[in-house]
Amino acid sequence: MSRVIGIDGPSGAGKSSVSRIVGERLGFLHVDSGALYRILTWQCLEAGVDMENPAAIHAFCEGVEIELRPGNGSVEYYVGGEAPGSRIRTPEINANASKVAREKPVRDKVTAILKGMVRFGDLVVEGRDITTAVFPDSPARFYLTASAEARAMRRQKEEIEKGIANQSAEDVKASLLARDAIDSTRKYAPLRKADGVIEIDSSFLTLEQVVEAVLDALPEEWKS
Ligand code: C5P
Repeated sequence: MSRVIGIDGPSGAGKSSVSRIVGERLGFLHVDSGALYRILTWQCLEAGVDMENPAAIHAFCEGVEIELRPGNGSVEYYVGGEAPGSRIRTPEINANASKVAREKPVRDKVTAILKGMVRFGDLVVEGRDITTAVFPDSPARFYLTASAEARAMRRQKEEIEKGIANQSAEDVKASLLARDAIDSTRKYAPLRKADGVIEIDSSFLTLEQVVEAVLDALPEEWKS
């Protein structure tokens, strides 16, 4: 049976970098669940779906086909044969992803896709509801957090380095907090720290220290 490490937490807590490295060290495939919600949001926006109309979002998302390709250390996603790349990392997608992700039919679709990925082998899956709803029975569940300031600073640096956007620190922080607010108060599978998960506050830790903390806390039999 596949082993699954689940890492949840708010935007910009460092989940992607940590999950990617932990995956590399253990030979587990990295799974970015947020990218699936981002792809659906991107497709909705491209198609001109009214983002204030839940029924339109449900109907449209149902028909979006996301192809999964495991390889290169992660499960990669393709739509119509194309990798979405930085097109799903824009401020516009940031501002709309939570509206799509709060819809139950959309969550059911993404949850089913994620659960099915165990067929690819061992996974390290990052997101908002991995430890509470998608893989709640995993013995390796983490809640990664950091102060809003630290998260905004990291996200802003990343956006500038990758040439995605050039927003002020205040704008990045406001966007993160707005998304966190919707994600943690929504009706279905809200972001929350589940009982029994290991919480790591990365505000004053280096990336390597967070990776070590995750690796140290894994079940003994997974470490060899
Ligand atoms: O992780 P990322 O910032 O790319 O996620 C984008 C959005 O997707 C989040 O703000 C959240 O609304 C949604 N999401 C979710 N459940 C997950 C992963 C992401 O609702 N497991």
